[in-house]
Amino acid sequence: MPNMDLAPLFVLVIVALVFVAEHLFTRKAPKQHYIVFIGAPGAGKGTQATRLSKVLGIPHLSTGNLLRQIVKTGTPLAVTIRSYIEKGQLIPDEMLNTMLAEELQGLEYVNGVILDGSPRTLEQAEFIESFLDGQGKEITAVINLEVNEDLLLERITGRRNCSNGNCGAGYHTKYMPSKKEGICDLCGSTLAQRVDDSESVLEERIERHNQRTQPLLAFYDERSVLYNINGNGNIEGIFDDILDALRIET
Ligand code: AMP
Repeated sequence: MPNMDLAPLFVLVIVALVFVAEHLFTRKAPKQHYIVFIGAPGAGKGTQATRLSKVLGIPHLSTGNLLRQIVKTGTPLAVTIRSYIEKGQLIPDEMLNTMLAEELQGLEYVNGVILDGSPRTLEQAEFIESFLDGQGKEITAVINLEVNEDLLLERITGRRNCSNGNCGAGYHTKYMPSKKEGICDLCGSTLAQRVDDSESVLEERIERHNQRTQPLLAFYDERSVLYNINGNGNIEGIFDDILDALRIET
């Protein structure tokens, strides 16, 4: 009977279809990265986080930038935040956590994020951990950029930004000077120094960083996600060390 002859072929086709379907539906999702950068002001967190964000294709979220955006709104909240920033003091944990949680609800963060400037305290680290846990996610790596204090001071006190909010280009009086002193190469606006980049405020910020960071590092070390990176070298070399540590191929 011709039908009987076709039976093995029919079974073979069914098995092949099941195999293909299984592979299609159980295909591994791309690796998600929830990465934190820790480092004193001037350690290069922003520079390295921006680069890593491009390589991994996930957003870079700097809480300092987020707060400076809020300050521009001139609301009562903005006035409060401004007073903390100007003194080099941290925004209270509860305020920061609420703001961060609101931001992280955004769809752009579903596949990962590079956090720069948060967490800065153990309370913030615990909050972020439970927030991500609620979404079935976790911090996958923490990059701690270690830089000598005199280099930090030199890097920060020379930092300048274009005062035009639509441009905002970054410069450094020694390492990346503008062609004409105090003037932006790109748009011709004046360059300004961040109020909290002055030497007196900076000392407060570095001191605070040193006090708060140790428990934070211990927290992430316990979770085996901490990578200590020497941040004294040049931008390229440090970035290569970060990629090596995270085993990321470009
Ligand atoms: P940054 O640009 O990261 O150096 O941050 C500038 C300032 O914003 C800090 O000196 C704090 O006043 C405030 N800030 C930024 N991130 C945090 C945070 N995670 N917790 C509390 N305050 C923060």
